[in-house]
Amino acid sequence: MSNHFDMMAIGAGSGGLSAVKRAAEYGKHTVIIENARLGGTCVNVGCVPKKITWYASNIAQIPNEARGYGFDISLNNFDWSKLVATRKKYIRSINTWYTSYLAESSIEHISGTGKFIDAHTIDVNGKIYTADHIVISTGGYPTVPDFPGKEHVITSDDFFTLREQPGRIAIVGAGYIAVELAGLLNGLGSEVSLLLRKEHFLSSFDAMLRETLMEEMLNAGVNIMPRTSIETIEKQLDGTFRMKCANGVTLEGYDAVLYAVGRTPNTSLLNLDAAGVKTDKHGYITTDYFQNTSVKRIYAVGDVTGRVQLTPVAVAAARRLADRLFNNMPDRHLDYYNIPTVIFSHPPIGTIGLTEGQARKEYGTAVKIYQTRFTAMYHAAANTEQRTAMKLVCVGPEERIIGCHIIGMGSDEMLQGFAVAIKMGATKKDFDDCVAIHPTSAEELVTMV
Ligand SMILES: Cc1cc2nc3c(=O)[nH]c(=O)nc-3n(C[C@H](O)[C@H](O)[C@H](O)COP(=O)(O)OP(=O)(O)OC[C@H]3O[C@@H](n4cnc5c(N)ncnc54)[C@H](O)[C@@H]3O)c2cc1C
Repeated sequence: MSNHFDMMAIGAGSGGLSAVKRAAEYGKHTVIIENARLGGTCVNVGCVPKKITWYASNIAQIPNEARGYGFDISLNNFDWSKLVATRKKYIRSINTWYTSYLAESSIEHISGTGKFIDAHTIDVNGKIYTADHIVISTGGYPTVPDFPGKEHVITSDDFFTLREQPGRIAIVGAGYIAVELAGLLNGLGSEVSLLLRKEHFLSSFDAMLRETLMEEMLNAGVNIMPRTSIETIEKQLDGTFRMKCANGVTLEGYDAVLYAVGRTPNTSLLNLDAAGVKTDKHGYITTDYFQNTSVKRIYAVGDVTGRVQLTPVAVAAARRLADRLFNNMPDRHLDYYNIPTVIFSHPPIGTIGLTEGQARKEYGTAVKIYQTRFTAMYHAAANTEQRTAMKLVCVGPEERIIGCHIIGMGSDEMLQGFAVAIKMGATKKDFDDCVAIHPTSAEELVTMV
């Protein structure tokens, strides 16, 4: 193997793999360095295992929902270890697929930790490699704050290695990962307390989404505890955990305490100073919209940049970077505006664009809101009350749609197509001009008055 490459990526997650894959398609000599499993967070401890668990949690609701349709189904048993094995097998198949893909595409794969020697040179396991272009794609890891008892805490990474389902779990956090894990564990029968530092979760999302979700989670039996911050955790003789909280409350009898309070960029092993790559005050690598770092020919993509932390964002930024560098597309870069996203909560959320609050702040009285709330036919017929709510945020006399927020069954699959239209600049009239598909929940988005 030659030690010099056209492109090198450090970190084989969504971003790094996409960069070298695209560069290799342009005939470039590429290498990827990874110190854990191929696929990174998304494949191994993120989107993929989370979504499989979400499916399992949805299946657990079926007997109840089926009753209204005339089925007498009972849930006899749920085997957590079988679910874990299924998940593991699925993930391994992706890891293996990546190994073969890299080999077939002549992309070199080096196992180990990459660290800068200088701006063109990387050390891995004591060997030296150089590249014309270096992409930092090292992602992040879950943050756990420092406090007495922090050693008892598990994170989302550990969640996916649990051999037994926690009977009673406290989940700390107000972001989408905390909310998703709370919902799916509750659906699978764990007793879940969700501890929020403030009054609400999902603070950056539209108020309609978080209020509806909170209502649904409370109805489903999640014990949501606002303004509850843990100060200490002690392990009891029976193996359970006891937490003292800042508001004077003591919580006990929990089998697990999971923190999902944010993520830290993975930069500490990179020796960035040797290359002169700058980070911001949170440790994220600073980049411009072309993914350029402070050092020429060194780029960063994905979670390590602190921009929208989603797999398709890392993938899109990386592919565009390779297009720009190797396919004569000097302006090619990712537009970080209007990125759709889904929260795999119960029920799921699909959202794109500005919230109503953000829109009113930016456009004042030029904003017009359309919204609706109903029970989807599936749930209405089954008599399993679950609300769906939708909101379109429009601006100006032409009513350009600048925000679309959906919560309810099917929102996860519904949003992608609408996101294309919104990204293209669709107006409310464009939506209205599209004939509805009946009977669906999605039709409400093109029939709102
Ligand atoms: C629980 C959870 C659920 C999620 N669900 C979703 C979802 O549903 N949808 C979605 O779009 N996103 C989701 N995400 C976010 C998504 O996983 C990340 O945005 C995405 O994986 C970021 O990709 P990346 O390439 O930037 O980094 P990563 O995928 O984190 O890859 C970085 C890689 O670099 C390696 N590495 C680090 N330092 C070094 C080094 N010095 N040398 C060599 N290798 C190194 C790491 O081992 C890792 O494999 C979820 C995340 C979590 C934690």
